[in-house]
Amino acid sequence: MSERSHARAAALPEPHLFGPLNVVGVSPHADDAEYGAGCLLAAYAAAGHRVTIALMTGVDEVRTAEAKAAAVALGADLVADPSGHDGSLDVTRARVRWLEEHVDAADVVLAPHPDDTHQDHRATSAIVRAALRRSGVSLCWYRTPSSGQSFTPTAFHPVTEHLARVRQRAIELHRSQADRPYLQQDHLALKDAWFGWLSGHPAVEPFEVVRQRLTPPPVAAVTTGRC
Ligand SMILES: [Zn+2]
Repeated sequence: MSERSHARAAALPEPHLFGPLNVVGVSPHADDAEYGAGCLLAAYAAAGHRVTIALMTGVDEVRTAEAKAAAVALGADLVADPSGHDGSLDVTRARVRWLEEHVDAADVVLAPHPDDTHQDHRATSAIVRAALRRSGVSLCWYRTPSSGQSFTPTAFHPVTEHLARVRQRAIELHRSQADRPYLQQDHLALKDAWFGWLSGHPAVEPFEVVRQRLTPPPVAAVTTGRC
């Protein structure tokens, strides 16, 4: 940078520093967001971003209480739609409106991939699409245990030992689901390693990017364009 550019940059107001992001993980059932995006959500929270898990099936009090404890373990808040039943989640205008309220101020939304053999997961994807129909927010699909073959990961988040431990702790708080094979540590480690192998990393969480809103560079960097 020239001396004149330095002087000009110094005369500008304080560069806008990006505030914390508002990240929403949409979860059909009380363990899906942890399974598919637990490490990324925990990493966002640890970095000071605001993380919320939006649970679509909040009728079951036991599972919602477990989801609340698991969200806290990830550093997240939990909001739950009290009208959603596990196994029969319909796409309704009321549910779209409920989710709209929680994604309205979001910067990043993570949700289950639409190709899924579980009807509640497919319904959740449809509700997310409808709630974001007028939004340019960044949206990534995560993989669930029942995602279909068309899930095409295009973004990968590293799973460190620490993040894997945080995710495991959160998953173990879903005590009513303790016997689920896909929630066991071995299964999760294999999943991380398989997608890691596909992406050239030791272990990752995979995501399919629907759209990513790019953030502008800090103001000070723009002023250095002429040299
Ligand atoms: Zn599920």
